[in-house]
Amino acid sequence: MTEEKITMNNGRLQVPDQPTIPFIEGDGIGPEIWRAARTVFDEAVKKAFDGQKQVKWLPLLAGETAYKQTGQWLPDKTLTALRDYLVGIKGPLTTPIGVGHRSINVTLRQKLDLYACFRPVTYYAGTPSPVVHPENVNIDVFRENTEDIYAGIESDVDTDDAKAWKALLAKQGKLGKVRFPDTSAFAIKPISKQGSTRLVKAAIDYAFANNRHTLTLVHKGNIMKKTEGGFKKWGYEAAEEYGDKVFTWNQYNQIKADQGTEAAERAYQAARAAKKLIVNDVITDNFFQQALLYPEHFEVVATMNLNGDYISDALAAQVGGIGIAPGGNINYQTGHAIFEATHGTAPQFAGQNKLNPTSIILSGAMMFDYLGWSAAADLIRAGISQAIKSHHVTVDFAKNADATVLTTSGFGDYVARLI
Ligand code: NAD
Repeated sequence: MTEEKITMNNGRLQVPDQPTIPFIEGDGIGPEIWRAARTVFDEAVKKAFDGQKQVKWLPLLAGETAYKQTGQWLPDKTLTALRDYLVGIKGPLTTPIGVGHRSINVTLRQKLDLYACFRPVTYYAGTPSPVVHPENVNIDVFRENTEDIYAGIESDVDTDDAKAWKALLAKQGKLGKVRFPDTSAFAIKPISKQGSTRLVKAAIDYAFANNRHTLTLVHKGNIMKKTEGGFKKWGYEAAEEYGDKVFTWNQYNQIKADQGTEAAERAYQAARAAKKLIVNDVITDNFFQQALLYPEHFEVVATMNLNGDYISDALAAQVGGIGIAPGGNINYQTGHAIFEATHGTAPQFAGQNKLNPTSIILSGAMMFDYLGWSAAADLIRAGISQAIKSHHVTVDFAKNADATVLTTSGFGDYVARLI
């Protein structure tokens, strides 16, 4: 097999007609959903490009399978291949809670500096949903992927590290703020100007490229003034670098302070009429209720790592759950990207050929968009849409009396036939 690599040249991806794309099947239900997805991908690429383009899939090991075969959860070879081939796709990987090795997902994001976790949340008609108007949810979430409490800097109770932290806090006169110092574990939450700026800019560039007109910074800066408050401040600064193309709530408030509310409203309405990108912000807890009550108020959301984790799952639930929510981890500067199912390994269902492969299938569509192969991506989304609308679904979506319940592989085959 000749290897044709995707490369990054002057900030643009160069994609050959037969690119090698590495994939990790993943643990638990990973191999089943991957096989179903691959059938759909190959068919979509063939149809979209009349057989002129084809993906050469390169299998890579990670997770439990890798551990059993190599003694490593994330073999060096796997990391090197993902680095070399630039763009890859993966199924879910096991992470033991509280003990054992670090999350492989988090490690991959940090090692390849995949700073933007992009999760578009949209509704496919026919999907069972717990809300009355799921079709009002069409929100693109950009979650910062390399910082925050996910840095993994934690000290257990009564260790040397914890003692060092306590000594430092005592020196700064802040130990009194720790309610139970002797039984406290500690964690560090780094949020930087660079990290916040590059994430917010990725979200803004996406908004411009995709005809979106509102971007909301979600943060808890009222409590964490320096970290999450910093994200908000740097986010607005980054937005204002786009000059006349944006109108921020920061600018609104300045006009209001200088010239009064009416002038600020006039400026806001003028910006809307000119189809500028409106950049505003909302406190995280408020975001959760607003997104349930008025999801149509949000288009693009930019937020930090932990908020983004919660937000993307909560929004996914509104449109039918994590079985359908896709995601990509991207470094827009180096071009590195890993697209992935957003759900976990669902180990209790492994080997049953039962659960929903839609999350990884739609992640593949995102990957093809990223490669500039949108014709294939559109065919995949149309196939998924048609299957769900006609109630040909896996068991988790089979809520209608007339539903035809398909297996994981059956669903993949059905969607491939629709393409
Ligand atoms: P999970 O997502 O694996 O499963 C939770 C529940 O969601 C399942 O019981 C099932 O009812 C439902 N579900 C999940 N995937 C589905 C699908 N494709 N179709 C239909 N329903 C689906 O979460 P968990 O049980 O908390 O985690 C299990 C393991 O997965 C853990 O080791 C965890 O660390 C790992 N995990 C990995 C990733 C990842 O690799 N990106 C993400 C989350 C969890």
